[in-house]
Amino acid sequence: MSRAYYYQECPTCGRNLKVRVEYLGKSVCCQHCHAKFEACDPESAAYPPSSSGLALLRRADELLDSVGAPQEVPG
Ligand SMILES: [Zn+2]
Repeated sequence: MSRAYYYQECPTCGRNLKVRVEYLGKSVCCQHCHAKFEACDPESAAYPPSSSGLALLRRADELLDSVGAPQEVPG
C-alpha cells in the first residue's frame, strides 16, 4: 500500500489521468477536458461490470458453477 496514485483513462478524452487513491468511488474532474467521472481502480473488483464484457462473462461462469451439473430425472 505504498502508492498514493493510480492511473485511470478518462472516459471522455481517453487520456491517462493520475488519480489519488483517496478519490476512489468519488466524482473526479479530468484535468484535460474537465469531464466529470467516477474514480474507480481498474485493478479492483469494484470496477463496474457494465463497462467490461469480461466481468460479465466471469459472472455468467459463476452462475453456471453454482447451478452445477444438470440433474438426471429418474424414470
Ligand atoms: Zn478528459
